Amino acid sequence: MKTVADLHMHTNHSDGTLNPTELARLAKDQGVDAVALTDHDTVTGIGELVEETNRLGLEAIAGVELSAKFSPGTLHILGYGFDVKGPIREKLIEFQKARAERNPVIFERLKAMGMPLTLEEVKEISQAKNQVGRPHIAKAMEAKGYVKTYAEAFDKYLTKGGPAYVPKAAWSAQDCIDLIHESGGVAVIAHPIQMKLQGMNLREKIKELAEMGLDGLEVIHPDHNAGEQKGFTRLAEEFDLLTTGGSDFHGDHKPGIQLGQGRPPYVFLEKLRERIKQRRKAV
Ligand code: AMP
Ligand code: ZN
Ligand code: FE
Ligand code: FE
Repeated sequence: MKTVADLHMHTNHSDGTLNPTELARLAKDQGVDAVALTDHDTVTGIGELVEETNRLGLEAIAGVELSAKFSPGTLHILGYGFDVKGPIREKLIEFQKARAERNPVIFERLKAMGMPLTLEEVKEISQAKNQVGRPHIAKAMEAKGYVKTYAEAFDKYLTKGGPAYVPKAAWSAQDCIDLIHESGGVAVIAHPIQMKLQGMNLREKIKELAEMGLDGLEVIHPDHNAGEQKGFTRLAEEFDLLTTGGSDFHGDHKPGIQLGQGRPPYVFLEKLRERIKQRRKAV
């Protein structure tokens, strides 16, 4: 019987450190029955992941994690079950271009503070497979001795509002949700705790997102304690949203997190699949 579905994880196609084959093998070792690869802004790792999960007899669905414009915290939207060759594909290529324009601005800022870095160095040190983002830059800053730890690179320089922070191109929440739906997928708010909203403000925002067509809330996540899990589950019930869960595994970039952490129940994926069927029909 299938019991665990980890629906949130990253590979070296975005800012994780394992490749998709290694990720699939680790899932098998950890007793995870089903996975969704949710790399940031890219679907390029999914083909390799599915090849390996098929070989291992694991279940896999397509996923992606988009960052929407938001304050005070961050709003990440997970897409599931979409057609990887649908409209989402071209849009994600635009996102990659925007990242390629953002990195040189970060490098200029770091150079002005006495920490020169080139894209080639960052790729070499971080072993980035595809996109380069702040986690890769943080790793390179540590390797070059500019900071003592990866965390210090973020805390002192790269974190939102920090002296080397450059905002990333981002769409509105509505645009993210629409894009996922137009490709036949289901849209879920990742780690809602990171929106940094509470009480009535949180409830109002979830209501607004539900009215935009949001399908679900990720209730199981390493950043959520038991009380927060309950609170998000209640909000999901109130607004007729699905509940999902995942470890947000990133390999060595987030060493405290294990694949399958939180043991998200397989029944979440069964419900998600029903919704995917409806969304696919509507395209
Ligand atoms: P980017 O997409 O290049 O803006 O990088 C975003 C990623 O950086 C997130 O997915 C996190 O993995 C990581 N990140 C963001 N803020 C921090 C922080 N304060 N400390 C450590 N990692 C962070
Ligand atoms: Zn990440
Ligand atoms: Fe996220
Ligand atoms: Fe994530």
